[in-house]
Amino acid sequence: MISFEEARSRILSHITACGTERVPLLEAAGRVLAEDRSAPWDMPLWDNSAMDGYAVRSADCGKIPCTLTVSGFLPAGARADGVAVEAGCAVRIMTGAPTPAGCDAVVPVEETDDGQQRVTLNEKVTKGQHIRFRGEDVPSGAIFVQAGTLLRPPEINMLATFGLALVPVFRRPVVAIVSTGDELVELGQTPGPGEIVNSNALSLAAAVRETGAIPRLIGIARDNLDSHRELLREGLKADVLITSAGVSAGDCDFVRDVLEELGARQLFWKVGIKPGGPTAFALHGETPVFSLPGNPVSTMITFEEFVRPALLKMLGYRQLLRPLFKAVLAEDLKKKPGKVQIVRIRLERKEGRWLATSAGNQQTAILRTMLDANGLAILPAEGITFAAGQEVDVHFYGSHLDLV
Ligand code: AMP
Ligand code: MG
Repeated sequence: MISFEEARSRILSHITACGTERVPLLEAAGRVLAEDRSAPWDMPLWDNSAMDGYAVRSADCGKIPCTLTVSGFLPAGARADGVAVEAGCAVRIMTGAPTPAGCDAVVPVEETDDGQQRVTLNEKVTKGQHIRFRGEDVPSGAIFVQAGTLLRPPEINMLATFGLALVPVFRRPVVAIVSTGDELVELGQTPGPGEIVNSNALSLAAAVRETGAIPRLIGIARDNLDSHRELLREGLKADVLITSAGVSAGDCDFVRDVLEELGARQLFWKVGIKPGGPTAFALHGETPVFSLPGNPVSTMITFEEFVRPALLKMLGYRQLLRPLFKAVLAEDLKKKPGKVQIVRIRLERKEGRWLATSAGNQQTAILRTMLDANGLAILPAEGITFAAGQEVDVHFYGSHLDLV
C-alpha cells in the first residue's frame, strides 16, 4: 500500500501534456492555450477619449467657469491627423475617438453647457483626465496570456482585439471508460434480481467531460477473462483508460491481471485512502490506465483525487489540484489510523470563516451523501479524532455555483 500523496505524485510524474492543435477563436472557449501570446501592437493603439465631451488644453481651463471656441468634431472611428486643439479652443469628441494634437484633457459633456459654437466648462479640469493613453492597457510586445491558461471570455476578447483568429491549444485527450461486472445492465434496461445499472460509466463520462477531456464509453466487461481482454484492448486505443470495479482481491476481479497480460506496467495497487483503497495505476506504453474501485462513491472520489489532476495535466493546465484551504469542523469526526480519510462535507461561510459540516452518512455505499456534498475534507492518515472547532484541510467538489 502506498500513501495518498505518493500515489498522486507517482501518477503525475508519468503524465505529460497532449499535443497541440490550432482552432478558430470562436471554438477556443474552454480550451487551454498552448503557447504564450504577446501584443502585436500597443493597446490602445492611440491616445483616445474615455468620454463624450470636449478635447481641451488644461492650461486654458485654469479659471472655472471658462468658455472656449469649438473648433472641430471627432466622432468614434475618425482620424485625428490634421486636427489640433489651438489655444482657447476645444474639439468636440466622442468616446473612443483619437485625441487631437494639443489636447491633454477631455471634459465630459455633462460638465459643460453642451455648446456647439462656444462651450462653457463648469467643473475643474485636471491634466490627463478622461484620456486613455496609448499602450496603457497592454504595451506592444507584452505577454497578455500565458500558455496553460484556460480561455474564458476575457482571454477570447483580448485575442480577438489583437486579431488572433487561430489559436494554439492543447489537444483534448480521449478517455475510454470500461465498466466491469456480471451484475451490470446498461442504462435503459430495467435491472432484474441481483442486477444494477452501470451508473459509473455515466458519472465517469460526466466527470471526464467536466475537465474538458472527451469520454468514450466502451461498455461492460463481463466477469470472465475473454470479455475483459476484448474491452480492455479496445479501451487501450484511447489516450487514457479508466476502468471501474473488478480491481479488489475478489474471485472475479480480473482487471489488473488482464491489463498485465495486455502489456501494461502496474505502478501501484492499493492506496492508503478511504474510500478508494484498491485503486491501481498502470502505464500501457505511454497510455495511463486508472483502475478505480466499483463502488460509485469510491469511483467518483478516486476520479476526483487521482484522475482529474492527471487529465488536467494532459489538457495543459498549470494548476492541477483544487486549492486546499482550512475549514472549521462543525462536529466531531472520527476515523481509523493509517489511512487518509476523505469526508464528504457541506462548506459554508459563517462569520468570516469556512465551516465544514458532514454531508451525511459517510459509509462508502451511501451515494446520497455525495449529492449533498460541495466539498471534501482530507483527514490525515495519522489522526483518529477531529473535534468540533478544529481546522482541517478541505477543497471544493464540483460546481461552486450553489455556494452563492
Ligand atoms: P467490485 O469492485 O466489482 O467488487 O464492485 C464493487 C461495488 O461496486 C459492487 O457493489 C458493484 O455492484 C458496484 N459497481 C461495480 N461496477 C459498477 C458500475 N459500473 N456502476 C455502479 N456500481 C457498480
Ligand atoms: Mg465486480
